Amino acid sequence: MSQEWNIRSRGHVCTICEKPLLDKTPVVSALRETNGGYERYDCHPECWKTAERDWEPFSQWDGVYLAPVKEEKKDPLKKEDAGELIRKLITLDDPAMKNVVYVLAVMLERSKILIERDAKPQPDGTIRRVYEDRKSGDTFVILDPRIRLENLAEVQSQVVALLSGTKTLGEVAVEGSPAEGATAPEI
Ligand SMILES: [Zn+2]
Repeated sequence: MSQEWNIRSRGHVCTICEKPLLDKTPVVSALRETNGGYERYDCHPECWKTAERDWEPFSQWDGVYLAPVKEEKKDPLKKEDAGELIRKLITLDDPAMKNVVYVLAVMLERSKILIERDAKPQPDGTIRRVYEDRKSGDTFVILDPRIRLENLAEVQSQVVALLSGTKTLGEVAVEGSPAEGATAPEI
């Protein structure tokens, strides 16, 4: 699989019966791995339970469907910028930014914007983590590159530089991530 992360939006009708999902009612969400990425399912719990399927979900979780609300005035908080930045980064899908994307996701999780729904350890020691945007229900599959502690500060400062506008995405991508291709011996 070439794509390390994906955005999948929450559906507003049940993927199985195609009837609307109702505001504030339980929903079963699942990601099905496909050649190009993931297909997302959002279903009534009964439909999920009773429908026949011949595939195993990559990930599955129980949530609550929230009908979209009209956004009021745009909140000028940093948090908003971080949410926009992570969407931009995920869309760019640049492997050089994988550490930045992951650290940003952790920050957004701490600010209660994203919620971690699942974690799938990979054979190479990395972890694919499934995050869901609490408000919009969008799903992000983000690679946890297992950043080494001594590199974390540098990645965090890259994230801060992006959020404060002191560096552009291009500049950070050129810097790459400190752990990338490093041949430094383990101490
Ligand atoms: Zn249904």
